[in-house]
Amino acid sequence: MDDRLFRTAMGKFATGVTVITTKVGEAVHGMTANAFMSVSLNPKLVLISIGEKANMNRLIKESGTFAVSVLNERQQDMSAYFAGQIKEERKILFDTFNDMPVIPDALVNLTCDVHQSIIAGDHTLYIGEVTDLRVQDGEPLGFFEGKYKKVI
Ligand code: FAD
Repeated sequence: MDDRLFRTAMGKFATGVTVITTKVGEAVHGMTANAFMSVSLNPKLVLISIGEKANMNRLIKESGTFAVSVLNERQQDMSAYFAGQIKEERKILFDTFNDMPVIPDALVNLTCDVHQSIIAGDHTLYIGEVTDLRVQDGEPLGFFEGKYKKVI
């Protein structure tokens, strides 16, 4: 089994797309992630998986807190930007929700305190206890086989 086959197999699992945000002092940082899942209802826990080399990994370790914004179908550009695929530096207007920076117009914004972190191979799994959330209607941005897809 080589790396390419593993990536191809994992890419067959269709997901939505999120932008993870955190802040250290007044410095805000965002990163695109599709490794996001719900873990527990009581207490309310979610999980994200962050590559060891990502700036976000160091920053969440430092802040102990993160937010998740579930992108809508019109936010593909936002996903590409926060994945580092658009090289120009942009001025992003974040919303503030529960004292955390979040992406405006996302289907969901939720804020978390880190409940547990687990180093797993070349990623760290952050389990977050949800401290607040808000939801709005709209269609999701989908991701399948390494490409953005309309879900409906
Ligand atoms: P950086 O490369 O440091 O930042 C990303 C970009 O956002 C840069 O252009 C930076 O300038 C900009 N930026 C960040 N904060 C701000 C700000 N406040 N104002 C303006 N610009 C800002 N990686 C994972 O580890 N886990 C995943 O689950 C995952 N899922 C992915 C899903 C998709 C669909 C894609 C396309 C990529 C995914 N990645 C994932 C890869 C990950 O998004 C990139 O590797 C990312 O660049 C690494 O994060 P970083 O913290 O080092 O970000």
